[in-house]
Amino acid sequence: MADRHPARHAPSGWSRRLGPVAADTGRLTSGTMDETDRTGLRPPIRTCVGCRRTDSRSALLRVVAATAPDGSPVVVPDPARRAGGRGAWLHPRLECFEQAIRRRAFGRALRSSVPLDPAPVLAHLEEREQRPSEQENRKRV
Ligand SMILES: [Zn+2]
Repeated sequence: MADRHPARHAPSGWSRRLGPVAADTGRLTSGTMDETDRTGLRPPIRTCVGCRRTDSRSALLRVVAATAPDGSPVVVPDPARRAGGRGAWLHPRLECFEQAIRRRAFGRALRSSVPLDPAPVLAHLEEREQRPSEQENRKRV
């Protein structure tokens, strides 16, 4: 019988599972691993997609991709950090927001192939700016 070939085709499906995840996440990885703070060994650190500086998770605003009621793709703030899916982290400052816009960081960090409208995040930040809580609220008046 000729069908007894020594070279078998190894099932390659299972080994590929590990591949795509680690492949091209690069330095954005730090912004997506929400489990790291469970270790309790170090404070959870995230990277701002605007200024690219790292900061403690509590100092950063989480944003996620979502779909607006009219069906258009948007970026929305997730202050409670409860939304599922991939998130990106941003200092809740207009400067960092604008930097993120300039380098199209939201789409990249959130793995969106379509342009995301960041208006909801901007609205969130502007609301914060108008209600200064702890600092510099007196200097402007
Ligand atoms: Zn920043």
